[in-house]
Amino acid sequence: MAKATVAIVGRPNVGKSTIFNRIVGERISIVEDSPGVTRDRIYGTGDWLTHEFHLIDTGGIDMGDAPFLVEIREQAELAIEEADVIIFIVSAREGVTSTDEEVGKILFRSKKPVVLAVNKVDNPEMKADVFEFYSLGFGEPFPISGSHGLGLGDMLDEVVRHFPSDLEESEDEDIIKFSLIGRPNVGKSSIVNALLGEDRVIVSDIAGTTRDATDSAYEFEGQKYTIIDTAGMRKKGKVYEKTEKYSVLRALKAIDRSDIVLVVLNGEEGILEQDKKIAGYAHEAGRGIIIVVNKWDVVEKDDKTMKNFEEQIRAHFQFLDYAPIVFVSAKTKKRLITLPPVIKMASENHSLRVQSSVLNEIIMDAIARNPAPTDKGRRLKILYATQVGVKPPTFVVFVNDPELMHFSYERFLENRIREAFGFEGTPIKMIARART
Ligand code: GDP
Ligand code: GDP
Repeated sequence: MAKATVAIVGRPNVGKSTIFNRIVGERISIVEDSPGVTRDRIYGTGDWLTHEFHLIDTGGIDMGDAPFLVEIREQAELAIEEADVIIFIVSAREGVTSTDEEVGKILFRSKKPVVLAVNKVDNPEMKADVFEFYSLGFGEPFPISGSHGLGLGDMLDEVVRHFPSDLEESEDEDIIKFSLIGRPNVGKSSIVNALLGEDRVIVSDIAGTTRDATDSAYEFEGQKYTIIDTAGMRKKGKVYEKTEKYSVLRALKAIDRSDIVLVVLNGEEGILEQDKKIAGYAHEAGRGIIIVVNKWDVVEKDDKTMKNFEEQIRAHFQFLDYAPIVFVSAKTKKRLITLPPVIKMASENHSLRVQSSVLNEIIMDAIARNPAPTDKGRRLKILYATQVGVKPPTFVVFVNDPELMHFSYERFLENRIREAFGFEGTPIKMIARART
C-alpha cells in the first residue's frame, strides 16, 4: 500500500516546522536514529485515523542562494509536484500578507487539494481572526495552534478526506519492483536506459502506477520487473531539483515503493557520505539491497582493484554486509546483464520463509557452541524462535528477558541464520520477546 504524501507550505515563521513536529512526533526516528542517516527534519511519517502518510516540510528545503520569492515559489512548486494534499499555513498574528497571496496564487493554479490552516490561534477568542483568510480562496480556514496543539485534529480530518482512492499499488507478486538510488551523475538513468535498450516502455497505463507515470516495465528471462522512477530520471530544470534534500526526498519515496534497492556508486569517485545516508534508509526500511559500482570502464585496473574496492565498500557499509556487490559499466554494458539475476535472487531471499524446525535446530546449535554471556549474574535463555514475516524476513525469538539480548549476541544469531539459509541481498529483523 503506497502512502499519500502531504506537504506543508507557507512563508517563513508561520509555524511550519512546529506543526510538522507535532504531526510527526516521535515517528521521525526511523530516519533519525540510524547512524549516518539524514537528520533533516523535513521528511517524516504521520498518521491520522487509519491513514499513514508521508509529510514534507517544504520550508526545510532551502534553495541555496535563490532570492526569497524564488525560494517560496519553488517550495510551492515542489509541494505541488510531490504531494497529494497540501497544507497551506498562514499566521493569525500577521493577517494576510502579500507573500501569502503569492503562494496562494501558485497553489490555486495547481488544482491540488489545499487545506488552509491559520496558525497561532492560541485561544478561542482569536477564532474571529481567521475570517479574513477566506480572501485567499481556499474555502474555510482551519484555526490551529501549533505550539498548543489546538485544532490539528479537525485540520487532519480535512486532509485525509482528500487522499486519493487509487493508492493501492499493484500487488502482483510476480513482478519485482526495484529502484536505483545514488548521488546525481553516478549513472542511474544510464543503467536503466541500457537495461531497457530500444524497448523502453513507459508504463503510465499499467494499473497501480498511475501516480508515477515514469515507472518502466522490464522483462528478463521470463521475470517481470518494474523499475521505480527516481529523481535522476525525471525532467530537470527546477531550482529545487538541484538541491540535495530534494534528491533525498525522491529517493526515500522510491525506496518506499520498492522491494529491492540498487545503491549505485561511482567507481571513479569512490564512496561519499551521502551514499551512506540513503543506503541507511533503505536498510532501515527493510528493503533488499544490492550495491552497484558503475563506470567501472574508466577505472584503471589490475588484478587487485576490484577486491580493494570491495573491501572499501565493506568497511564503509558495515550494516550492508548482506548486500551483493556488482561492478558494471552502463557505457560499455559490461556485466550489466548480471544485474537482473542478482535482483531476482535478492527478491527471492527477501520473501523467503524457513521451516521452524530447521530454524530452531540452527539456533539451539548456535547457543550450545556459544552460550549467551551473563549480565549482572543473569543469563539470556532462548526458548524458541519463529519466523513471523517476510519482506524482510522477520524472526521473533522468545527469551526469558529481552533486556538480556544484547546487540552483539543478536548479531551472532543473525550470522548463524545467514550461514544456514543464505538470505543474501536482504536485511533480516530479529525481535526478542519475553516468554516465561
Ligand atoms: P516556520 O519557519 O514556518 O517553520 O516556523 P516555525 O515553526 O519555526 O515557527 C516560527 C515561530 O513561531 C517560532 O518562534 C514558533 O515558536 C512560533 N510558533 C509556531 N506555532 C505557534 C503557535 O501556534 N502560536 C504561537 N504563538 N507561536 C507559534
Ligand atoms: P544519474 O544522474 O545518476 O541518472 O546519472 P546519468 O545516467 O545521467 O549519468 C551521468 C553521466 O555519467 C553521463 O554523462 C553519462 O554518460 C555518464 N555515465 C553513466 N554511466 C557511465 C559508465 O558506465 N561509464 C562512463 N564512462 N560514463 C558513464
